[in-house]
Amino acid sequence: MKIATEIEQTRDIISFWKKEGFSVGLVPTMGYLHEGHKSLIERAVKENDKVVVSVFVNPMQFAPNEDFDSYPRDFDKDIALCENAGAKLVFHPEPDEMYNKNFTSYVDTAQVSEGLCGKSRPIHFRGVCTVVCKLFNIVQPDRAYFGEKDAQQLAVIKRMVDDLNMNIKIVGCPIIREEDGLAKSSRNIYLSAEERKAALILNKSLKLAKEKIYAGEKAAEKIKTLIVDMINNEPLAKIDYVEIVDWDKNLDEVKVIEGEILTAIAVYIGKTRLIDNFIVKC
Ligand code: AMP
Repeated sequence: MKIATEIEQTRDIISFWKKEGFSVGLVPTMGYLHEGHKSLIERAVKENDKVVVSVFVNPMQFAPNEDFDSYPRDFDKDIALCENAGAKLVFHPEPDEMYNKNFTSYVDTAQVSEGLCGKSRPIHFRGVCTVVCKLFNIVQPDRAYFGEKDAQQLAVIKRMVDDLNMNIKIVGCPIIREEDGLAKSSRNIYLSAEERKAALILNKSLKLAKEKIYAGEKAAEKIKTLIVDMINNEPLAKIDYVEIVDWDKNLDEVKVIEGEILTAIAVYIGKTRLIDNFIVKC
């Protein structure tokens, strides 16, 4: 497995592969990799001749009050995981390599990026789209892999690719969880032992909501109330949002649970903001 820190070096390796006729899969990440990322890499390895993992904590998607500086990093561990999962190249640029000092171009995706996490993180998806667009231009993958853990991000990237005619297949991959149900996340490391227990309320409330939907409940408001009440009963939890939206259109709020529906939540456990969701087809 190769490691590249420069764009030109990365392009050279990939253009050699392309000349040989190999297909290329890309898994964009911010590092501190876990089983969730590994599942994306393994899926990419199955579906492509060569897999590139980018490890880049993208400053553009963090607001000044967010955790860019403290975001966990462990590149040696990341390399081992990538190699073990079958990746052939890790692209690990410094911020200066990605953004030169005259940088002024951005990719903005309206509508799908405005609700849910976009409300409390207004500049987030502009940063995500811009960096992913740059990674697509650098790597020119045939396929790129994103987790349903960040469902809105997946929807936003799909929209960007459609709208801007990028010739890349976007593959969504299921959420990987800890044994007790907590969605795996690089940010789980921030949780104290007590908070780690409290964090189970995210999955627990979603699980109950899903059961009610499968039992025939159609009123989005009732499902929302059920989730909100359960989370509010957990003293360490503070809701950022609980939303039920359409998954196959614009992520607009729905009143009736019908068709493909995303139930998404963001909850502070102490100071740590965690997200989780489920998608159902009714
Ligand atoms: P991140 O490093 O957090 O930016 O995540 C990189 C990619 O891994 C994104 O597409 C995430 O949705 C995906 N991912 C993160 N956690 C999980 C998980 N628990 N299950 C599946 N995919 C995940």
